[in-house]
Amino acid sequence: MSEGGSSSKLQAAATHLRGIAAAPGVAVGPALVLAPQQISYVRRSLRTAEIDGEVERFQEAVRDAQKELRSMGERSSASRSEQSIIEAYLLMLGDETLASDVELRIRRDRQCAEWAVSRSIETFAATLSAQKDPYLRERSHDFEFIGEQLLIALTGASSRRVLPRLQESVVLVAHELSPTDLLALGKEHLLAIATEGGTRTCHTAIVARALEIPSVLGVDGLLTYVSSGDRLVVDGLRGVVTVRPTDEMVSCGLDRGRRHMALTRHLLHDVHRQTTLASGEPISLLANIEFSHEAAFAVAHGAEGIGLYRTEFLYTDRSILPSEDEQFEQFREALHALEGRPLVFRTFDMGGDKPIGNLTLPHQPNPALGLRAIRLALEYPDLLLTQFRAMLRASAEGDVRIMVPMVTSLREWHEVKRLFDRACADVDERHQPRAPRTPLGIMVEVPSVALLIDRFAPHAEFLSLGTNDLTQYTLAVDRTSPQLNRLASHFDPAVLRLIRGVILGARAADRPLTICGAMASDPLAVILLVGLGLRQFSMEPAVLPEIKEALHRVTLAEAEEVAEEIMNLSSAEDVEHLLASHFAHRLLDLLSGGMD
Ligand code: PEP
Ligand code: MG
Repeated sequence: MSEGGSSSKLQAAATHLRGIAAAPGVAVGPALVLAPQQISYVRRSLRTAEIDGEVERFQEAVRDAQKELRSMGERSSASRSEQSIIEAYLLMLGDETLASDVELRIRRDRQCAEWAVSRSIETFAATLSAQKDPYLRERSHDFEFIGEQLLIALTGASSRRVLPRLQESVVLVAHELSPTDLLALGKEHLLAIATEGGTRTCHTAIVARALEIPSVLGVDGLLTYVSSGDRLVVDGLRGVVTVRPTDEMVSCGLDRGRRHMALTRHLLHDVHRQTTLASGEPISLLANIEFSHEAAFAVAHGAEGIGLYRTEFLYTDRSILPSEDEQFEQFREALHALEGRPLVFRTFDMGGDKPIGNLTLPHQPNPALGLRAIRLALEYPDLLLTQFRAMLRASAEGDVRIMVPMVTSLREWHEVKRLFDRACADVDERHQPRAPRTPLGIMVEVPSVALLIDRFAPHAEFLSLGTNDLTQYTLAVDRTSPQLNRLASHFDPAVLRLIRGVILGARAADRPLTICGAMASDPLAVILLVGLGLRQFSMEPAVLPEIKEALHRVTLAEAEEVAEEIMNLSSAEDVEHLLASHFAHRLLDLLSGGMD
């Protein structure tokens, strides 16, 4: 989408293009537009005598592509997150379903290996693109990338996408950019990235954030506006790319970039101080992670522990379910990085339409309301038992707590506790060490639990508010829909009333309560929640320093006074407005990433 510009590359006026703010920071520089990779081959029908040889050629291409990727991962500069992405690609390359589909096309349809690979990849990618889940949709690009690597191996194309050797600093512009493209280009000369494809949760965005390269992804029509050499301002905080900016826009962009960097450095410098309100009350800040290697990053950003480890990511992008031992090893890695700090594992939250390894699930017409999370776990208890055992074994190595997502009824909860006791007995029978006591908690993210918190709280050892789902189910708004995004506000008074009820219920039952939904990453929302009585928050690790700083600037009395006033309001807009009018001026630098 463009604002105030023309659709012609020839037009000299500045053009602002909107996209997704995928990695923070602001950078200015000349564009380098990457052409899409084109690999040509001849579609050849095979003679019977050629078929076995063609299957072997395909198998060799898989091995070659894996070798190439491995050597990329072994580069000394590859970070842990880049390596884990490469591992995911390696698993996809070795996927048996893909291999049998390609072989079938070679044997049955007599297609040459290149043709069979292209067709298989098209089918896999199209199935994934049609999924409702944005994470799965994004995986279709990963499949396209894998297909590209196989075609390169088969055709002997000289290299993967012909990437320029960067001699000077540029803003890289492309239709799509894979994480391995980023890895191959290196950080040295990359000022910023702008692409037409991608989302905040795609692997390219994850790598860009890890490399700290300001990035705007998902910019519609970017390539029709930008030519190599065009000057660009890439604002990774607001998600805007300015093409051919005026001198004033450039100096303003550079200035904002510098201020953002200064703010980040300043906040990081102070990150290990104790978090307190301006009036002195201590607040506890934890981090949410999806992979074990993020634990060290969280600690470096001041986390006192992990309040949410989304373990379902161990199950994605693979055809074989993770074993108990594999999960145990992963969990141990996170605990070691935490050096005694607490870690709350969340049992897997997956299901609905998501494929899970080689399990074939019944079709779910409405996945968010279907066989998801705990419902799936109770339908397939061995999955949950395996995970419980891995977590219990890990409890011998650190401070482990376990929580269960999407609990809806007490019947379910009692069933979970029964399985948990069985997993404890299994571990003991094998004489494997575990902590004498591992607290088991409930995620409060379905309105039924929030409404009956007085009945649930006494049966759980701790509680954690999942406001992403609580908002989705209270307001009947699909949290994955970009069109409905503005309707899904955690500031809605109905959501706030439920949250307040949960805070009071947890207090009455004397149960620790944390919040781990995205609301805990929003400085204004955190102040409101402090005013409502919350004292522990778990959030994206990167925002910890900002939240810490925001809390330092507000007293408990102020937060409580505003919260009380807010509980009388009737719309999300009024709530936001009142919060902003009281606190935004004091948090201006934090709310705008150091910018005006
Ligand atoms: C939530 O629902 O708020 C939550 C933290 O869990 P997830 O976002 O993984 O569903
Ligand atoms: Mg949830």
